[in-house]
Amino acid sequence: YSSVELTRYFLDRIQTLDSKYNAFITVCEESALAEATAADARRAKGDAAPWTGIPFAHKDIFCTEGVATTCASKMLANFVPPYDATVTRKFKEAGAVCIGKTNMDEFAMGSSNESSFFGKVINPWGENLVPGGSSGGSAAALAARLIPAATATDTGGSIRQPAALCGVTGLKPTYGRVSRLGMIAFASSLDQGGPMARTAEDAAMMLNIMAGYDPLDSTSIDQNVPDYTGTLNDNLEGLRIGLPKEFFRDDLNPKMKAQIEAAVKELEKLGAKIKEVSLPHTHLSVPAYYVIAPAECSANLSRFDGVRYGYRCEHPEDLEDLYTRSRSEGFGDEVKRRIMIGTYALSAGYYDAYYRKAQQVRRLIKNDFVAAFNDVDLIAGPTTPTPAFASGSKTDDPVQMYLEDIFTISTNLAGLPAISIPAGEVNGLPVGLQLIGNYFSEARILNAAHQFQ
Ligand code: GLN
Repeated sequence: YSSVELTRYFLDRIQTLDSKYNAFITVCEESALAEATAADARRAKGDAAPWTGIPFAHKDIFCTEGVATTCASKMLANFVPPYDATVTRKFKEAGAVCIGKTNMDEFAMGSSNESSFFGKVINPWGENLVPGGSSGGSAAALAARLIPAATATDTGGSIRQPAALCGVTGLKPTYGRVSRLGMIAFASSLDQGGPMARTAEDAAMMLNIMAGYDPLDSTSIDQNVPDYTGTLNDNLEGLRIGLPKEFFRDDLNPKMKAQIEAAVKELEKLGAKIKEVSLPHTHLSVPAYYVIAPAECSANLSRFDGVRYGYRCEHPEDLEDLYTRSRSEGFGDEVKRRIMIGTYALSAGYYDAYYRKAQQVRRLIKNDFVAAFNDVDLIAGPTTPTPAFASGSKTDDPVQMYLEDIFTISTNLAGLPAISIPAGEVNGLPVGLQLIGNYFSEARILNAAHQFQ
């Protein structure tokens, strides 16, 4: 197929099916066809890279020059960035065809994709089911085969959790592996962009494009990027996999537990050696995250003041009124909740009690992983506590929603890479196996995931 044919095929699917799922905020028909035509010309000249001409979508958190980038917020509903994110630029240089921007939770805050200003996303596995979040649009688009690959971001689970709930593959790389330049900030010490695709092999090809040092991102790490596809077929003989006992507690849904244990058996058949490990501070990861992430979000989102760019209220009376109303009208409820929690936790007098304490807990969580990786090469467990849940079932209880990320958040706090891959079904719905690796072990994670698939 030519790239133009492929692009048309996916554009048609989006046009006929996306009214059901609402996975896209923007579809770039015209520019996608132009990019596809250019890619076909590049292929004809024999100057094609592996992704030249392949359609994909960006989560609407990555700045795309000349194309609306909303972060699913009223605040940025009309924002057209004057520059590309580094990730966007790299896909362009590879000749990939950006077909649109996917829906998400507002400013990437959420686990169900119900907080988008552009309406909730529906999981293709069931009309009444959430796709997970915050990268729910990318995951739903993949599951409905509206697109073969999509970018996503993960601050506390937002790549892996929606991938698990929609039955696709999602990798959160090591913090610093993928540039954050032009990726709209939520919690800067946790945010990391990564690939979402059907398989680990596709994710490896995407990571080849996305990974690498960026001098324009101060936390980007200057380390060699291996060819992530080069080691996919290595065998798993002797690979040491740890099962954290805290991830398999008695209160874990028994069907979920059985399904993940069956997946681990498969890895064992492939040659892996399984042993128990302990991550004793796991229970502190959600509380620590929900101090640190809101604290950083309250600082990052202070730039949306109605003055420089983004939403501005009508007829402000004075500067104070301009700030207050622009922010009250421009942000949704969950974003406001986070800004208030974060501002409180950072205020004089509470800083030591909450923020500093959370940072100390973060170090304990990281140290748990460092100790575990002395004994094992990978850590395995469920990605989520349950399969996809019903729309609306957790929106009135933020704490229940926050607990959705109980298995994913600790890796962000530690800065480690982790993948979620489809591991069968529970109650007829997909569940994810999570594989967590040591720093910069994306190649090993992808290798194990590929062998499993
Ligand atoms: N669900 C988590 C939150 O709401 C994580 C979101 C994310 O990873 N962006 O903060």
